[in-house]
Amino acid sequence: MSEELKECPFCREKASIQDCSYLGSAPAWCVMCDNPKCFAYTEALKTKKEAVERWNNRPAEEALQKRIAGLEAERDHFREVAKKLVWLYSDEHQERLDNGLRIDGFYSHEWLGMILNMAREALEGSGE
Ligand SMILES: [Zn+2]
Repeated sequence: MSEELKECPFCREKASIQDCSYLGSAPAWCVMCDNPKCFAYTEALKTKKEAVERWNNRPAEEALQKRIAGLEAERDHFREVAKKLVWLYSDEHQERLDNGLRIDGFYSHEWLGMILNMAREALEGSGE
């Protein structure tokens, strides 16, 4: 078998290919979840290859995984913006902020400009 079977979409257990010819016309193959408490299976198909393809074909799940990855990237970007703001306004920098001095080589207004640009980038990424 060249193609690996994906885990069960319902219980995440392994699945295996089964001879389902007992269900009717032979030859017939289906993929069944190995979990005895889960009854997920494909219909009976003429070849093992078709059964594997049917089991593994999950366009909705793949679209959701892609969307989740995109949302996680957006979340990470917003976290970076928040971390920079928290870092800039931490006690360690308060005196320098109050006195208009440089922090890590930049004045506070320059830091705010950089953080603002990061926030704008993050908002563009999120479709705002
Ligand atoms: Zn299952």
